[in-house]
Amino acid sequence: MKKQVALGIDIGGTNTTFGFIDRDGNYLADGNIQTQKHEDINDYLKELYMEIEKTLDPHRQEFNVIGIGIGAPNGNYYKGAIEFAPNLRWHDVIPLCDMMKEFYPNLPIFLTNDANAAAIGEMVYGGAKGMKDFIMVTLGTGLGSGFVANGQLIYGSDGFAGELGHIIVSPNGRQCGCGRNGCLETYVSATGVKRTAYKMMAKYNYPSDLRLVPFNEMTAKMVCDAALKGDMIAINTFKYTGKMLGEALANMVAITSPEAIFLFGGLAKAGDLLFEPTKDHMEMNVLKIFANKVKLLPSQLDKNAAIYGAAALVWNELKL
Ligand SMILES: [Zn+2]
Repeated sequence: MKKQVALGIDIGGTNTTFGFIDRDGNYLADGNIQTQKHEDINDYLKELYMEIEKTLDPHRQEFNVIGIGIGAPNGNYYKGAIEFAPNLRWHDVIPLCDMMKEFYPNLPIFLTNDANAAAIGEMVYGGAKGMKDFIMVTLGTGLGSGFVANGQLIYGSDGFAGELGHIIVSPNGRQCGCGRNGCLETYVSATGVKRTAYKMMAKYNYPSDLRLVPFNEMTAKMVCDAALKGDMIAINTFKYTGKMLGEALANMVAITSPEAIFLFGGLAKAGDLLFEPTKDHMEMNVLKIFANKVKLLPSQLDKNAAIYGAAALVWNELKL
């Protein structure tokens, strides 16, 4: 009998990667193409189709593809469309599911944004297996999130629910890419960490190698490495980052009462540097009825997490 597999596609700003994954999380075959090569979305989809078919060819006797899941920036689940994604070449509304249907008329196709896909990936394959209420926070260049309540991802009335990165945590605070000021992601993200490191340099006299690094060349990883070596500018940067995140999470806990909050992505790899101040400030600010109840955990998804998330969307939607 053929093995049931889902095709997960992750559309990133630079690369589009895809993989075939079974229900147990076995990663069976994969491929990738450049996202930005084609100005015309139709040319991009043709190349993606050819690459998928090429990858599938040696496995046709073995795989029964049951559906396609796509994670994409600004992916709207209800419309199956990418809407005004700032990091992609196609800036208007792209009805991606309908366009993919021309290549795969007999397969169910689902689309959501990358953070929502990560949340479903955590639920189907990761640390949130069996949990009905949790929050997934993805920390990259920005801050993404997916909220699962009563076992279902919250999409909201328009498909864009769960934008934790754009709650305002500091009125008139740092300028955000969304056009407003003081959003959480301007503090808690790779770029937020960089901005905070400079703030700490201005505030304190501690010697630090970070002072020699120009802003454009600094990375959150450099700040993390410096903190692990005892650099006080870097240590204070992570304390501040954790404080901002912990306070925001305390507010989120009051809304969905999650069993756990998962942190995913580059910054989450800083481990205790980020987890300890986040947990402390979450507990300091949470309503008493929630005290010491909510677990703060690292994501169990690691390599190929975005593809896992996209594939998990298929199993979740088909309730398999
Ligand atoms: Zn914003």
